[in-house]
Amino acid sequence: MRRALFSIILLASLCSCSSRGKQRCLPEEDTSGFCCVTDSVPDAILEIRYYSTYNFIGKRIDGYEAPIALITKEAAGALRKAAGQLMAKGYRIKVFDAYRPQCAVDMFMRWAADLDDTSMKPYFYPDLTKNRLIPEEYIMEKSGHTRGSTIDLTLFDMAKGCDVDMGAPFDWFGELSHPDYPVGGKPGLPAITEEQYGLRQLLRETMIASGFKPIDSEWWHFTLANEPYPNTYFTFPVRQL
Ligand SMILES: [Zn+2]
Repeated sequence: MRRALFSIILLASLCSCSSRGKQRCLPEEDTSGFCCVTDSVPDAILEIRYYSTYNFIGKRIDGYEAPIALITKEAAGALRKAAGQLMAKGYRIKVFDAYRPQCAVDMFMRWAADLDDTSMKPYFYPDLTKNRLIPEEYIMEKSGHTRGSTIDLTLFDMAKGCDVDMGAPFDWFGELSHPDYPVGGKPGLPAITEEQYGLRQLLRETMIASGFKPIDSEWWHFTLANEPYPNTYFTFPVRQL
């Protein structure tokens, strides 16, 4: 009996969100309210870090089946407005992540609890011991991304042909990622330049003016203020709809 129960639990965990098997045990969800970011902003650059292995875990994240960014149609419309304003100033948007299925967040939590897996520490959290990631809410059980109207992005300078330098990379775990991090730095931490500070504010102010809310801890993260699914945490994978 115990063996049978174990098998059932194992089967359930295998089926929860596999990016490998063709068969999925996912609930059928209505994805009609979603679209690809590039449907609304065709010149958006995509660098989907959780589809790649260059992220804080160092592996492709569960639920990312295609290197695309999905988002609610309402958020896509607001993003189009922001992208247009930024384009007029010489920037394209570069998207790191948008809709994130719950199974991806679950993988983050499993990884954060495994204190021995620190392969990407030099790149994303060199100054933190891993046991601080959950208590200090760098990693949480729920993410606004899972509600579909949140996006992580930066600016691409069209004249220079490269990403702008924001003074801290995407997914850097630390105070240096705070959008209002002071130019002069903080005790024991580096300074950022006026230009880096200004670029953070440009992104922030443009996104706010287009209907998004920022957060205090990550310069790259914005959620549509009037999001259409404020209480729904979706589970469908990131793939072509
Ligand atoms: Zn984010």
